[in-house]
Amino acid sequence: MRFPISMTMGLAGYIYRNKRNPPPNWQRDDSKKSGASNPFRILHEKHSHGGKRTPHPMISKRFPLVLMLEPLHACNLTCTGCGRIREYETTISKRLTLEQCLGASDECGAPVVSICGGEPFLYPELAQLTRQLLERNRHIYLCTNGMFLRKKVHEYTPDKRLFFNVHLDGLEKTHDLAVEREGVFQEAVAGIKAAKEKGFKVCTNTTVYQETDMKEIWELYEFLEQFDLDGHMIAPAYGYSAVNDREIFMTRDDIREKFKNIDAMASRFKLNSTPVYLDFLKGERDLPCTAWGNPTYNVEGWKGPCYLITDAHHKTFEAFMTETDWESYGHGNDPRCEHCMMHCGYEPSAALGINSKPGDNFTMLRWMLR
Ligand code: SF4
Repeated sequence: MRFPISMTMGLAGYIYRNKRNPPPNWQRDDSKKSGASNPFRILHEKHSHGGKRTPHPMISKRFPLVLMLEPLHACNLTCTGCGRIREYETTISKRLTLEQCLGASDECGAPVVSICGGEPFLYPELAQLTRQLLERNRHIYLCTNGMFLRKKVHEYTPDKRLFFNVHLDGLEKTHDLAVEREGVFQEAVAGIKAAKEKGFKVCTNTTVYQETDMKEIWELYEFLEQFDLDGHMIAPAYGYSAVNDREIFMTRDDIREKFKNIDAMASRFKLNSTPVYLDFLKGERDLPCTAWGNPTYNVEGWKGPCYLITDAHHKTFEAFMTETDWESYGHGNDPRCEHCMMHCGYEPSAALGINSKPGDNFTMLRWMLR
């Protein structure tokens, strides 16, 4: 099984319940604003076989799947492609209280919480936060650069709902270059080893840049096989305006070229990205952006519209859901979205079955059971 059965069943039940009874206070009907020429208003209309347009079944069914929780933005590294340490330079020393973190999780109710940042291990109450989120039945991806994992892993208890998600962008030389410090790869691998030995679930997270050699990512996954990891996340980089070096980021065509052989990788290694999202990366299907499925909460509030772009910080989750002009974002609507194929915008669409094709359910089931 790719994920624990409780996680798969819990997520399926959550999606089913929310599709049937979407929380009314989070919905906003933008359908009347849609321009007929906009091909990306997929959430708003659906084409039947006879070419008839009908309201899309997801039109008023917005709800979150994964909360991106950033307790702080401070980090011990200065990775080349990181937008956070640059965008939040002025608030870098601020952090959320434990109550604010738990309050955000309660407020939106997303079944999965990705604790990111900044480096979450710099957050003094991280172990407590993790414990209390598990008590709330949340599944946790604790995203880390791995530098503190070996030393701090004893503060945690293995749980089938807790994954340490270690950032690795390549083998030693490449990764250390990307994070701008020697020794990081070795320490991250030592952390992975220590966590696995203690019985934790551990996966890796890789960002693919213009310069990434996909053969090296294959070799990285081969190298990691010795640790029997619990999956690999892989996604293309997003060109943050806060990051000056534009050359490392890719256009949609570049991304499709990079990911054209991803099927071979997906059949050899345990990739956590859904097959539908991988089809999207390969250019074999289109997906709309559903960034509301992956809300971000940080020291400034609910970040709208998404993990990548900041046009506003909202005080409440309801305000984020109802005040964000969702119609204005996504490929074809906002130049900043033009080349974005990040999982935070598109994995929810895959999970929710938006733009699904016949056979998708079977493909997804086979992928989950593998
Ligand atoms: S397309 Fe990407 S950048 Fe644009 S709103 Fe969606 S997730 Fe954000």
